[in-house]
Amino acid sequence: MLSAQEAETLILNLVQPLDAQQDWEQVSLTAANGRILAAPVTGNQDFPYWDNSAMDGYAVRYADLVDCSPEKPITLEIIEEIPAGMQPQKTVQTGQASRILTGAMLPQGADTIVMQEETQREGDRVTLFAVPKPQAFVRHRGQFYQAGNPLLAAGIRLAAADIAVLATAQCPQVPVYRRPKVAILSTGDELVTPDQPLQPGQIVDSNQYALAVLVEVTGAEPILLGSVPDQPDQIKQAIRQAINSADMVLSSGGVSVGDYDYVDRILAELGAEIHLRAVAVKPGKPLTVATFSTTNQATQLYFGLPGNPVSALVTFWRFVQPALRKLSGLASDWPPMFVQGRTTQDLRSDGKRESYLWGQVRLVQGEFQFQLAGGAQNSGNLINLAQINGLAVLPIGTTQISAGDSVQILWLQT
Ligand code: AMP
Ligand code: MG
Repeated sequence: MLSAQEAETLILNLVQPLDAQQDWEQVSLTAANGRILAAPVTGNQDFPYWDNSAMDGYAVRYADLVDCSPEKPITLEIIEEIPAGMQPQKTVQTGQASRILTGAMLPQGADTIVMQEETQREGDRVTLFAVPKPQAFVRHRGQFYQAGNPLLAAGIRLAAADIAVLATAQCPQVPVYRRPKVAILSTGDELVTPDQPLQPGQIVDSNQYALAVLVEVTGAEPILLGSVPDQPDQIKQAIRQAINSADMVLSSGGVSVGDYDYVDRILAELGAEIHLRAVAVKPGKPLTVATFSTTNQATQLYFGLPGNPVSALVTFWRFVQPALRKLSGLASDWPPMFVQGRTTQDLRSDGKRESYLWGQVRLVQGEFQFQLAGGAQNSGNLINLAQINGLAVLPIGTTQISAGDSVQILWLQT
């Protein structure tokens, strides 16, 4: 059986990202949050756009002030006032200055700004008492970015700051990867929807809802295919439909060793290549990973997740989410985020498989703290998954991590 790390590597190697040439669309900046840039962006304007002042003060000629001192102050004639947004009209000559405000364009002739606080003004004259640094408080055109240089790289996820950069570079439309489509299918004779009355023995198909949300928060588009009973023909039909409608397929249930667990057999019948049937993790051991290849389409990844709701979620966070990030065109940072913290309670495992215990991670006085979810750490207990944001990881061979000791935590991107 593969370890979690080996399974992660195998799965990521199977993922073919969306095609940057074909699988992209143009979106406006107001719709770009969270999207993945499909092509590098190059700006055609310098930034700053022009020389401008970083202070409220006076635009002066440095050469006029080299002999300036408190004992020998220098008085200049103010020829113009330049607020931000205005184009200066006058050239600063020897003995002159222009009043200038933060962000305003530097006038011709001036090369240095003197802060207002270091001057004394009387009418249209300003007196200075010290030699400024040459070019002080001037933000030069192109100082931070020169037109034609790479601005943003392909494969980054756009967030507020990136969108500000694109706005500044006057790129109102950006090319982003389309959102990958992920079909979600539940299997099981016992499953009903939340609004159906429960007959004895039935349970609600909660996986459909949880997986749809996780697909969405990972930036992809869920396609909800509902649940199918444990009937090979119906499962086969549903998997066919899923493959035809999506870039990736997630099914839950039917991948264990029970009499009604048909998924692996059907995948093989449909021509899928099965790469993985189990991973040494707890919860989540029965995880099937398969690929479908058709001549005209990219390889599609199929995840047969365990039906148990805790296992389905844990395997999504640990294995599906990284694969989905890579599929979506993100250039790096696919694996989950692991942080080192301290546990507030004893953590226990049988040590046979890598164990994930669920709970909350918090930053307390500069240190991550992990607190187990209240109630049983039982993979049948879906209820105490509510409000968790972390999984404590107990490696194979570790049966206990004591309260106060260091533990690795998978910080969930929920
Ligand atoms: P299975 O993997 O099909 O053997 O299912 C394992 C356990 O998870 C059983 O107790 C199922 O009733 C339960 N289960 C399976 N599918 C779902 C689902 N979609 N939502 C909630 N629980 C499920
Ligand atoms: Mg089942």
